[in-house]
Amino acid sequence: MKGLVLRSTGSWYEVLDENKHVWQCRLKGKFKIQGLKTSNPIAVGDRVEFEIEDKLENMATIFKIEPRENYIIRKSVHKTAHGHILAANLDQAVIIVTLNYPRTSLGFLDRFLVSAESFRIPTTIVFNKIDLLSEEEKDYLADLAALYESIGYPCVFTSAVGKIGIKAFNDILKDKISLVSGHSGVGKSTLVNQIAPELDLKTMEISSFANKGVHTTTFATMFEIEENSYIIDTPGIKELGLIDIEKQELSHFFPEMRALLGECKYHNCKHLNEPKCAVMEAVGSGEIAESRYNSYLSMMGDDDNRR
Ligand code: GDP
Ligand code: ZN
Repeated sequence: MKGLVLRSTGSWYEVLDENKHVWQCRLKGKFKIQGLKTSNPIAVGDRVEFEIEDKLENMATIFKIEPRENYIIRKSVHKTAHGHILAANLDQAVIIVTLNYPRTSLGFLDRFLVSAESFRIPTTIVFNKIDLLSEEEKDYLADLAALYESIGYPCVFTSAVGKIGIKAFNDILKDKISLVSGHSGVGKSTLVNQIAPELDLKTMEISSFANKGVHTTTFATMFEIEENSYIIDTPGIKELGLIDIEKQELSHFFPEMRALLGECKYHNCKHLNEPKCAVMEAVGSGEIAESRYNSYLSMMGDDDNRR
């Protein structure tokens, strides 16, 4: 049987089969995934093959995992320990941001986008709580969205309580597996509730798998919001974490900088103070936004890019 991993405790896996039946699975023997050392062999979003052990009890055993298209991995805080795969096979990330209440900083947004680029996951930006914006803030938001659209990130405007943009939000999730992320309080639960009222993210975070006695907050959970559309929620985790990005490579994950990379005088240009740097020239001419370049500088200044 083939299935999709909806959630995991580290030792148990909930797997959805092709007939929409959910199985409680264990792993068969030891799993080794080539070239990747992680604390968890299987993650939410993995496609697996399993065999039924006990039909009445819904118990099954996973014996095979399909190659991943992509995955998000978090470094352990202990440098020697292996990373933890948060989720696999994502079609996209959806980052929910708010200008106010709470304010999402552009630095945070840009870090998220760089992480997603490094994992090769396309991202859509959802600006929520637009009902709270002044006219001035609306103008600012329009400019901001135009900037991110020009770089290649689709933008959607919503008000979860005002029921604005709900269809647009629903449309971006259609037929995809989406990681939905954002600071606590941006309205993620309220937005998801608008399109899938039977899902109550807030309550589920607390109750899910509680009977198995596992600390669930570090694990991601996948929910089917409608036929063929799934969201992955990572409670308590708002940053994606970076895979090891060399400072030299950081500009590759800013698409508007990546487009200019052949044009700097020095091929190993870090775009900091080198002469004839195409990136700095583009910042000077306004072709690259200062806020984006500032985020770049800030990330270049990190002692450790892994966050
Ligand atoms: P989460 O932590 O991201 O899941 O945020 P919640 O969905 O719990 O929302 C946090 C608070 O923001 C709640 O009081 C919501 O009612 C409120 N909220 C959510 N979306 C909107 C919105 O579009 N406009 C306004 N004014 N408030 C919102
Ligand atoms: Zn340069």
